[in-house]
Amino acid sequence: MFESPLFDKSLYQFGNKQPSWWEASLSAGHTDPGQSLSSNQTCDVAIIGGGYTGLSAAYHLAKEFQTDVRVLEAGHIGWGASGRNGGFCCMGGTMLGAHGLVKKFGIAETQKYYHAQMEAVDLVRSIAQEEQIDFEPQGDCELVVAEKLSHFEDLNEECAFKVEKLGLPSRMIPKDEFAEIGYDAPHQHGAFAEAPGFGLHPLKYCIGLGDAAERAGAKLHPQCEVTRWEKEGDVHILHTGSGYSIRAKRVIVACNGFMPEHLHKGLQSRAMPLQSQIIVTRPLTESEIAAHHWVTESPAVNSRNVYFYYRMLPDKRFMIGGRADFKGTEKGAELTAERLRQSMISLWPEWRDVAIDYSWRGFVCFTSEFRPAVGRLEDDPSIFFGFGYHGNGVNNATWIGRELARWLATGNDSNNPVPAHLPAIVHGMTSKIPFGGFRPYYARAGIGWHRFKDWIDGV
Ligand SMILES: Cc1cc2nc3c(=O)[nH]c(=O)nc-3n(C[C@H](O)[C@H](O)[C@H](O)COP(=O)(O)OP(=O)(O)OC[C@H]3O[C@@H](n4cnc5c(N)ncnc54)[C@H](O)[C@@H]3O)c2cc1C
Repeated sequence: MFESPLFDKSLYQFGNKQPSWWEASLSAGHTDPGQSLSSNQTCDVAIIGGGYTGLSAAYHLAKEFQTDVRVLEAGHIGWGASGRNGGFCCMGGTMLGAHGLVKKFGIAETQKYYHAQMEAVDLVRSIAQEEQIDFEPQGDCELVVAEKLSHFEDLNEECAFKVEKLGLPSRMIPKDEFAEIGYDAPHQHGAFAEAPGFGLHPLKYCIGLGDAAERAGAKLHPQCEVTRWEKEGDVHILHTGSGYSIRAKRVIVACNGFMPEHLHKGLQSRAMPLQSQIIVTRPLTESEIAAHHWVTESPAVNSRNVYFYYRMLPDKRFMIGGRADFKGTEKGAELTAERLRQSMISLWPEWRDVAIDYSWRGFVCFTSEFRPAVGRLEDDPSIFFGFGYHGNGVNNATWIGRELARWLATGNDSNNPVPAHLPAIVHGMTSKIPFGGFRPYYARAGIGWHRFKDWIDGV
């Protein structure tokens, strides 16, 4: 286990599974994909990290190009954010918003990015269907629920822009209609139904992706933390906690918010991990569901700057998530769980007596430029990376993994830092975050500022 100088060590217990609803609801008798490493090995491409990015890269490398590829994962497959997220397979991936992207990158690149986002949502569904993954899809959009009438007007303007200029098949749902087809509660003033998007079981999808990668010929090695990285000529040697090593000519770093920065100086202070935490209730009774007239299956967020994300799960448990504390201690996690429960009660007062059965947390990953980073290291182009999905990795990590695989395998654009067909928004490493040790404090200041704005706004 490595100890991050940034957060409490309880967040890096690779040997422990999360006490999540996703782990608890795996089918009886399921087995985790992969086999521990039992000798020194050589391969063409070694991938560090067994979440969606690494597994999608391995799956596509093996399936489309028959590449000899191995995934090294410190925990079990899906130990990281991929096995414990909210299961929103929706548009996103940056903090800049559509207008911010247009301002910085122009309308053509923004259109290209949104087009890729839509393709990425479809990619998840099509892999799951083709590989017969029991991913439990739910709903047909992401609902952004207006907490105030003025928010509905802002969302209406955003929706019009996204439909007309970016080609999203989205629409606005006025308050009365939303009370019929969404849910009813004192805070809802209608919603923006941003499509495409849907909810899924994130761990079942992740394990299914791992199984599919193995069937295609990739080798997955869980409980195999890379602890040291050296290079002999043009060969990388990844030493692992299992006592064995892997030699490879090319490496993909696919660790997102759990970035092992101590392994390579090119990775230092690029990722900005931020904790997100989720609670899940016991199954709600029919009368509790009727009390808020909950009908929708689509995943939802509210319209605050520091928003909550929530879903009604297939067995009628209610899930709500939001930002967690900035140190990452277990005590902090307990306090965050209670804060989330209080928030749930304030938003859906009829559920004041509903018990919480599950609570867990993990890292999402921001970057200094508030955009995903895809590329290869400047001082060693044999090292590829994809990270920084800003809490939107289900579709993004799957898509970026595929793009990394195709780039590596075809050698196209070998003189470019990033394949030219990818939107400029994801191109290349993001700038180093100054005084990296202060990252949790920067996050605290940023979130504090946004909470203050919400408070001024009265939400
Ligand atoms: C609570 C929570 C809720 C979220 N909700 C959503 C959501 O609803 N929708 C959405 O799209 N996104 C969501 N996200 C974000 C999403 O889960 C991530 O963006 C995505 O899973 C990133 O995938 P990844 O494969 O890049 O990284 P991860 O899944 O985090 O995988 C990285 C892996 O690298 C491994 N690793 C690190 N160091 C080493 C090492 N030295 N050796 C070997 N392995 C190593 C880790 O063990 C880890 O398993 C959420 C995240 C969290 C934490």
